[in-house]
Amino acid sequence: ISDSLSRIGLVGLAVMGQNLALNIAEKGFPISVYNRTSNKVDETVERAKHEGNLPVRGFHDPEAFVLSIQKPRAVIILVKAGSPVDQTIETLSKFLEPGDCVIDGGNEWYENTERRAASVKEKGLLYLGMGVSGGEEGARYGPSLMPGGTPEAYEYIEDIVTKVAAQVNDGPCVTYIGEGGAGNFVKMVHNGIEYGDMQLIAEAYDVLKSVGGLSNQELAAAFTEWNEGELESFLIEITSHIFQVKDDKGEAELVDKILDKTGMKGTGKWTVQQAAELSVAAPTIAASLDSRFLSGLKEEREAAAQVFREAGVKDILATKEVDKQQLVTDVRKALYASKICSYAQGMNIIRSKSIEKGWNLDLGEISRIWKGGCIIRAVFLDRIKQAYDRNPKLASLLVDPEFAKEMVERQEAWRRVVSLAISVGISTPGMTASLAYFDSYRRSRLPANLLQAQRDYFGAHTYERVDVPGTFHTEWSKLA
Ligand code: NAP
Repeated sequence: ISDSLSRIGLVGLAVMGQNLALNIAEKGFPISVYNRTSNKVDETVERAKHEGNLPVRGFHDPEAFVLSIQKPRAVIILVKAGSPVDQTIETLSKFLEPGDCVIDGGNEWYENTERRAASVKEKGLLYLGMGVSGGEEGARYGPSLMPGGTPEAYEYIEDIVTKVAAQVNDGPCVTYIGEGGAGNFVKMVHNGIEYGDMQLIAEAYDVLKSVGGLSNQELAAAFTEWNEGELESFLIEITSHIFQVKDDKGEAELVDKILDKTGMKGTGKWTVQQAAELSVAAPTIAASLDSRFLSGLKEEREAAAQVFREAGVKDILATKEVDKQQLVTDVRKALYASKICSYAQGMNIIRSKSIEKGWNLDLGEISRIWKGGCIIRAVFLDRIKQAYDRNPKLASLLVDPEFAKEMVERQEAWRRVVSLAISVGISTPGMTASLAYFDSYRRSRLPANLLQAQRDYFGAHTYERVDVPGTFHTEWSKLA
C-alpha cells in the first residue's frame, strides 16, 4: 500500500518550503505538499514537473494531504514563524495520528518549539524544531540543517535529511543537535554570527572605500583575492560579485544606489538578548545589531550630519594619504582577527545555553555542519571544528593555540586599521568591539577592582582581595 503514499509531507510553499520540497523529491523521496493559499500548491507541482518530473503531489485540502503520507508520518512546516506555526499545527493535528511527527523548519524562537512539543505530546505526536539555513539556493540544492527535539523523531527523517543537506568532505551538513529547542537555538546563534560577519565585511568595505579610496573594481579585485585565502567563504564571494553588478537603471554599479538602511527579522536581536540573559559577552554581535538600528535612522543621521557640519566637523578623509596595497592587506588581517572574536562569542553563547539546559551540545560537530549549505559557510569553520576536536572543553576559541597564534600575527595590522578608522571618523564598531574583546580577555588584570571598590563604597557590596582570602567591606567615606 505504501507505494501510493508519500514518504514525507511539507506545508508552507513560500521561498523556503517550495525549494526544500523540490530538493527532497529530487533525492528520490516522494513528497506531498500543502499550502494555505492553494495557488502556491499548483505552482510547486508545476515546477516539479519542469525540473525533471520530480515526485511531488499537491493537495488543496489538509485532510487529503495528511492521509497521503505513509505512517508514521513526518510533516515539515515552513510557514512564517510565530502564530502561523500554531495555526498550521492546529489544522494538521485534526488529522495526524499518534506516532506522527511535526517538524518546524522555520526560524522559530526555541521556547515556542518546546511549548509546542509539550502540547502535541499530549496527542501522542512527536516534534522537531529544525533550523534551515542557506536561503533559497540552499533549500533547493543543499542547506545546512539543525534539527533538535526528541531523538526518536530524528530517526523518522534521518535518511532524508542526510541526502538533502549540503555535502562537505566530512559528511552531510546535518546532525541531530540536541533535545528540546536546541536546533532552533543553534540556528538563532548561526544568524547572530551571520550578522557579525556581514557587519565586519561592511566595515572592511567602508575603510577601503572611504579611507583608501578604492573603486568598486578595486574592491571586487580585493574581495576576489581574499576569497582565495583564509577568508574564503560564501559571504566574501557574493560581496566580490556585488561590486561588479551594473545598475540597470543608470550609470555605474548598483551597490552605490542602494539606500543605506538594513532590514532584520529578529534572530540577531534574540541572539544578543540571549547572550545578556546568559551573562556571555558578545560585543561584536551586539555591535552588528546596533549598527542595523543606527542604519535605520537615515533621516536622523542626515540631520545630524548637517548639525555637525555646521558645528565645524571637517572632512578629515581628504587629508589622509594611504598606501592602497598595504591597506588592503591590513584590512584583510583585521577582518580575519575580528571574525575569530565574533565566532568565539557565538560559540560561547551556545556552550553556556547547553550547560543551562543540559543539552550536551557538540561545538565541533556544530561547526562541521556549518561548513556547507549555510550563509556563514567558510573554510575557516573547519579550523574551528579542529580546535574543538583538539579540546572539546576549550574555554574560548581565542586560546586555542592555532587561533591564538593567528591573532598575534594579525594584531598589529588590526590595530592599524582600527586606529586609522578612528582617526578619520569612520566607525568600525564590529572591528573595534572585537579588538576590545580580545584586549579585555587577554589581560590578567582589568580595572574591575575600581568598580568593585565603588560598589562597596555606595552599596556595601563587599569585595575580595588579591592577597587574603575572604569577603571584605570598608567604610570608605569615613576613611577618605
Ligand atoms: P515566509 O514569508 O516566512 O512565510 C510565508 C509562508 O507562511 C506562506 O506559505 C504562507 O502561506 C504561510 N503562512 C503565513 N501565515 C500563515 C497562517 N496564519 N497560516 C498558515 N500559513 C501561513 O516564508 P519563507 O521566507 O519561505 O520562510 C519560511 C520560514 O523559514 C520562516 O520561519 C523563515 O524565517 C525561515 N527561513 C527563511 C529563509 C529565507 O531565506 N527566506 C532562510 C532560512 C529560514 P500563504 O501562501 O497562504 O500566505
